[in-house]
Amino acid sequence: MSTADSPTDLMERIVALCKRRGFIFPSSEIYGGFNGFFDYGPLGAELKKNIRDCWWNDMVRRRDDIVGLESSIIMHPKVWEASGHVAGFTDPLVDCKVSKQRYRADQLFFAAVVVDGKTVGYVSALESERTAEELQAAAENFKRKKGIQGALLSVQPKDMTEAKPEEIALIPSPATGEPGSLTPPRSFNMMFQTNVGAMTDGSSVAYLRPETAQGMFVDFKNVVDTGRVKLPFGIAQIGKSFRNEITPRNFIFRSREFEQMEMEYFIHEDADWAKCHQEWIAWCQAWLLSIGLPESHLSLYAHPKEKLAFYSKGTVDIMFKYPFGVQELWGIAARGNYDLTQHATASGKPMEYFDEATKKKFVPHVIEPAVGVDRILLAALCAAYAEEDVKDEKGNVEKRTVLRFSPRLAPVKVAVLPLMKNKPEIVDVAEKLYRKLKRKWNVFYDESGAIGRRYRRQDEIGTPWCVTIDFETIEKDGTFTLRERDTMQQRRITETELFQLLEERVY
Ligand code: ATP
Repeated sequence: MSTADSPTDLMERIVALCKRRGFIFPSSEIYGGFNGFFDYGPLGAELKKNIRDCWWNDMVRRRDDIVGLESSIIMHPKVWEASGHVAGFTDPLVDCKVSKQRYRADQLFFAAVVVDGKTVGYVSALESERTAEELQAAAENFKRKKGIQGALLSVQPKDMTEAKPEEIALIPSPATGEPGSLTPPRSFNMMFQTNVGAMTDGSSVAYLRPETAQGMFVDFKNVVDTGRVKLPFGIAQIGKSFRNEITPRNFIFRSREFEQMEMEYFIHEDADWAKCHQEWIAWCQAWLLSIGLPESHLSLYAHPKEKLAFYSKGTVDIMFKYPFGVQELWGIAARGNYDLTQHATASGKPMEYFDEATKKKFVPHVIEPAVGVDRILLAALCAAYAEEDVKDEKGNVEKRTVLRFSPRLAPVKVAVLPLMKNKPEIVDVAEKLYRKLKRKWNVFYDESGAIGRRYRRQDEIGTPWCVTIDFETIEKDGTFTLRERDTMQQRRITETELFQLLEERVY
């Protein structure tokens, strides 16, 4: 099996496939696109819905201790004051005054060019898998261009949040290559503001939510009072979130409008939170495997204690090996009772739980697994994408592009293919089967072109099975040819067996 050559190449091919086959389009494309926003086409919408459905079924419906919620996207502005987002949901921003480009300070790296122990200048580079190499090459280039003699020290990359005030004027802007135009880092709040009602003054300012989690905290009491829930229990929500990211990038990995699947798992104040945290990390890892992400691409990153928010007891991220590097996919945070306490104080409404057994009231603690639907979708696409050399019916080698989605995620579960479109007996059986399957699953009917070509088209969109209705079907025993995407092997199958296969594999 072969895949595309370089990581950039691979991403380009995946993006091209997404466009070509209707998975993902740039938003407002006819107007030149809109940076950080995307549209999901017919297949992308199905794929995304399958991710949501798998998560909701496994996280909510198939468990006894978790209930669902759908809170509003625009909430009372006081929610975001209490949660700390108005004051602190910021990224450090650096502007280039000449090019008008903006950079996230922690993604813009620089290094001093040190020759014979003396700093002779600075170089800069944007964060990538190769930042250190790029800075080293830039330093060598700098020394050569300026005709400086002596021994160049290996560069020590730092990001702009670490730049000393006197260094800032000397660091070149990545846009112009010249020093003097970068501003010192300043805090930029990432929440999108809007106005509610007819007035557009300060009193009408509201925010598009930057996370779904606050809905679960604000409605905690409502759920406890009405949901017949008992600790430990969780509240789960799937929905859109919005962040005015300074540098949206890597396709849908970091966008400005995205979808989150978050769950707040409330536990007793004296419960063993570390054990519970570990259990949720394990649950999330197992879930990612169940939707077909390869174990080899997953790893864990525990946030260092000194970088955690003061209330946080621990955060572990499940990382995924994307073509552009190992990046956060799913964050699992132990948040103590910070959020509920903040809302209790700000609203004046108690956020306590009454424990029937001990007759004591307390504010529960929480473990929060928070993941982005779009990041899972991108991980699934990247892991599934392959290009292979295969032999056609005549033995000629040809290239096939295949998306090896798990049957749970595949946008189309089965393609129904009548061998010939001008044989009414065949078409009749095929149409009936198609209608019957369609009641439960998203299936596709294709009668045009050679059968080999039709298989390839399905491979490219990740359909796990094709069913061909042929002469044996109508002349012999009613069985169909089942062709498997991954092995490309074919076997005969009855209708009952086909339904059984789908029931088992698509859940
Ligand atoms: P990052 O460090 O990558 O900005 P984060 O730590 O701020 O992410 P959280 O606030 O923990 O992210 O959000 C939970 C999850 O939401 C993330 O693990 C990720 O899957 C998803 N997510 C966050 N920001 C974005 C974004 N801009 N685009 C797409 N998904 C996102």
